[in-house]
Amino acid sequence: MVQVDKRRVRERMVRDQLKSRGITDKAVLRAMSTVPRHLFVQEALQSQAYEDNPLPIGHAQTISQPYIVALMSQYLQAEEGMTVLEIGTGSGYQAAILAEMGLQVYSVERLRELHVETRQRLGKLKYFRIRLKLDDGTLGWPENAPYDRIMVTAGGPKVPEPLIDQLADPGMLIMPVGGSKRRQELVIVEKSEGQVSRRREGGVAFVDLVGEHGW
Ligand code: SAH
Repeated sequence: MVQVDKRRVRERMVRDQLKSRGITDKAVLRAMSTVPRHLFVQEALQSQAYEDNPLPIGHAQTISQPYIVALMSQYLQAEEGMTVLEIGTGSGYQAAILAEMGLQVYSVERLRELHVETRQRLGKLKYFRIRLKLDDGTLGWPENAPYDRIMVTAGGPKVPEPLIDQLADPGMLIMPVGGSKRRQELVIVEKSEGQVSRRREGGVAFVDLVGEHGW
């Protein structure tokens, strides 16, 4: 009964927050209506999980607003079977969305408590194929490189060089970049035939990317 209600809430979220703002990628929309977002936030905040804003996930970190998760996922132009490296596992919500889109997901988190909590959560939800690592994600995860797609879900001063090195050719990376903390622009890096190009999309506000190639 509860499950049915939540699915309805998710479908409303998809219609009112995503489709109405131009999210059209079918795999993204399907994933957003499938993943139980309320199970990725603290119990006291579950009733707010489908609202149009980010929420705290403990340890001074946040889970992004649904629209931003969908937008970044759509920018990836990913196809089923591709590999994706996510930096900033956090609650595991974005990783679950990418897995539901049919991608092989690798995700790195630097905070031990979040890494441990999220490993348990994803296990309970049976996302067994998502691979998690506790480390400074600005160094990437070289053992499994190259990645068809890389998504950074924390904001840094520049795109970390190791991530560009670990991107496949062709490949695409998306990351919030900004000179001031909590205020960034989404930067999309494309690698194609040995060339690396960048473009900027809209403004966003992510928590800090902290590490050797971050803050
Ligand atoms: N994608 C997450 C939300 C990310 S919040 C979700 O869906 O819930 C940003 C996360 O990036 C935080 O958990 C923070 O601890 C992590 N982070 C910050 N710097 C990092 C780094 N250098 N390597 C890995 N994770 C990092």
